[in-house]
Amino acid sequence: MNIYGALEQGSIREGVLRTLMNLRDVILKTLNDHPYLLEYADEVRNAKLRVAEDFDYWIDRSMEVLEKRGCHVYLAENAEKARRIAGEMVGSGKTVVKAKSMVSEEIRLREYLQSLGNEVWETDLGEFIVQVADDRPMHMIVPALHYSEAQVMEILKKVGIHGRDAEELASGVREFMREKFLKADVGVSGCNAFSAETGRVFLVENEGNIRLSTSLPERYIALVSIEKILPDDDLALKSVFVQSAYVGTFPPAYININEKADSQEMHVIFLDNGRKTTEFREHLACIKCGRCQLECPVFQLAGSLWGGEVYGGPTGMVWTAITEEIPEVCFLSTLCGKCREVCPSDIDMPGMIRKMREIILKAR
Ligand code: SF4
Repeated sequence: MNIYGALEQGSIREGVLRTLMNLRDVILKTLNDHPYLLEYADEVRNAKLRVAEDFDYWIDRSMEVLEKRGCHVYLAENAEKARRIAGEMVGSGKTVVKAKSMVSEEIRLREYLQSLGNEVWETDLGEFIVQVADDRPMHMIVPALHYSEAQVMEILKKVGIHGRDAEELASGVREFMREKFLKADVGVSGCNAFSAETGRVFLVENEGNIRLSTSLPERYIALVSIEKILPDDDLALKSVFVQSAYVGTFPPAYININEKADSQEMHVIFLDNGRKTTEFREHLACIKCGRCQLECPVFQLAGSLWGGEVYGGPTGMVWTAITEEIPEVCFLSTLCGKCREVCPSDIDMPGMIRKMREIILKAR
């Protein structure tokens, strides 16, 4: 379905607005009660932009630290190379459990590993629903927001999960997932923040599935897009606090700080995919909280179907320009500026969308 189909499907609009109403006051209260989070957001933005000015230095430093800690480390210039590296590590005939990761969507990792003959499961509840529905995430953090409870009931029946309400369904999914966790050969995660000081992968969550996906299997693969690199643990921790505040889950139930464990093989793939050379460098300060998506009037109508193949909404316009190509639908933005107003990193998305339009028009 494209953006025009989305306009006719009221469930996207209902889902986005319901999520916005549920989260907006929680986020504002969190920021009011913990004003230091705004200072953290500033510090994280500045640090990310500093790292982006000299990616080569920070990537080398991160790789060196990880190698010293006994990890296997790779740098993938593009999505194809990242997929291939991950595919070689996983092989075929394996069970893979995955934590939700937009970067893995960016490189179409699940589909690729499945094509090699692996059983691959998303372990985040929303992402699992999207997987079973054979759909795409409709929001960075709340991927299944466009489904009603009745629709989720129908979707989950496909994998033998039944329940009369959200609680029973969630419990059915937990039971289904338990067996997958126990037999998984490989765990895959993204990364919310990476510390170049210690080589630690920081991941924030509320379900506990990331903890199980990354600690139980004997082999663990972390996908780290290079804008996640921060100079030290302190900034990485601040980054996950800010993300958690802006998705309405502060303080988070779990913060995972993953590093090489004796009993586990750990692989880290750094992904460039357009980030080093982008002319939209300011956007590399994005922490992918999805706040701008919920507040955007166009996203409220079309969800992530307004954007590229993976990323949608105002942030998605720019991520698509960085990782694929400038999306023509950037002309549908109202340039109202709400995205920048709510962004923890104060990113000038309207300015970048204007620039995209200029580039497209000049090329005509
Ligand atoms: S652009 Fe800003 S508000 Fe939007 S996802 Fe990124 S950090 Fe969050």
